[in-house]
Amino acid sequence: MGQSPSLAVQPQATSDLFAQHVMATYGRYPLVLERGRGSWVWDRDGKQYLDCVAGIATCTLGHAHPVMVAAVTRQMETLHHVSNLYYIRPQGELAEWLTQHSCADKVFFCNSGAEANEGAIKLARKYAHTVLHIEEPVILTAHSSFHGRTLATITATGQPKYRQGFEPLVSGFDYIPFNDIEGTRAVLDRYADRACAVLIEPLQGEGGVVPGDRAYFQWLRQECSHRNLLLVLDEVQVGVGRSGKWWGYEQLDIEPDVFTLAKGLAGGFPIGALLCKESCNVFQPGDHASTFGGNPLACAVGLAVVGTVESDRLLDNARERGQQLRQGLQAIAEQFPALIEGIRGWGLINGLVVKVAAGDVVQQAIAAGLLLVPAGKHVVRFLPPLNISAAEIDLALERLQVALKALCVAAE
Ligand SMILES: *Cc1c(COP(=O)(O)O)cnc(C)c1O
Repeated sequence: MGQSPSLAVQPQATSDLFAQHVMATYGRYPLVLERGRGSWVWDRDGKQYLDCVAGIATCTLGHAHPVMVAAVTRQMETLHHVSNLYYIRPQGELAEWLTQHSCADKVFFCNSGAEANEGAIKLARKYAHTVLHIEEPVILTAHSSFHGRTLATITATGQPKYRQGFEPLVSGFDYIPFNDIEGTRAVLDRYADRACAVLIEPLQGEGGVVPGDRAYFQWLRQECSHRNLLLVLDEVQVGVGRSGKWWGYEQLDIEPDVFTLAKGLAGGFPIGALLCKESCNVFQPGDHASTFGGNPLACAVGLAVVGTVESDRLLDNARERGQQLRQGLQAIAEQFPALIEGIRGWGLINGLVVKVAAGDVVQQAIAAGLLLVPAGKHVVRFLPPLNISAAEIDLALERLQVALKALCVAAE
């Protein structure tokens, strides 16, 4: 009686499956994460990591949160997908929650950040054609920005490395210097007849965790109003509580005309949203659509996530834990002046500016049982779940110290 051949064969290593079958679009760390709970994830060898990446600012409530599990299960058992041919109750309810908790009047749902920004670009262009009567509208975005990986959003992204090799790009974009009033004014003047919108992040995430300057954004808000430009904020990374307020624009004391959400909105379940004020709500039936956008499952999970952020007072937690983290990082910076240049961020989106390669710090942190993610070459990002505890922040700081010590030893 021989064993069945399939049992005798060892399963292929996950990395081999990727080498053979998955397009090599990502530089991956050599980790296979198999399960998670709260702020913790485990790899296939059972090693435990404190997750200060949270799916890149996505797992708002951490991993396997019981409220999310219940929402997914309940909605899956009831109705998981129909079509926007019909009215979808959870979609209406999530839109109601969003408009009641933000400056927006209307919402369009999609599935990702890039898709939400594509929608914003289409909305701005339609607004330009139908309200401003501009034939060839231009949208201005910031240098060092990040808006996604579709053709229009890599064009909007003010970093050449994301565009190289994909030309021809989409026409109708140009760039302004972030947080620079005089530099921005010069570009606005140059496009006085053609500009229809400024698309900008309240805090540049991928560009190195650079918070928007309050004076700059207040000036930009006024300037957009005077010049009849839409101010479109990409809140994909900082929105939904990550900054310690619901929306990044509250940190800057302004209101956008349009803004976009995705990452944290359904706590790691795919969703995106485009929100606008009634004054620029120019989409008509047939103008824009998405098969999966606003499906019952994603919206039910989104409702569960924002409801839990409210009921568990997680905005307060994001602010308090953020302050604890920045204070701890400051102390570590004084301990390692040769490695660390500074700290910046809001709430639970924080960057450690390092004098070495950010990737090296991340590698050593992984070895020490801490997941972090670079933002550019010299910034290491901390993006833990919004419900991370004080003890877990202390542990993250301890593990970072271990990683930095190891980096010093490796350099000797
Ligand atoms: C992640 C991100 C995007 C792109 O979101 P995807 O869901 O990956 O398409 C867009 N803008 C900002 C600010 C982001 O951080």
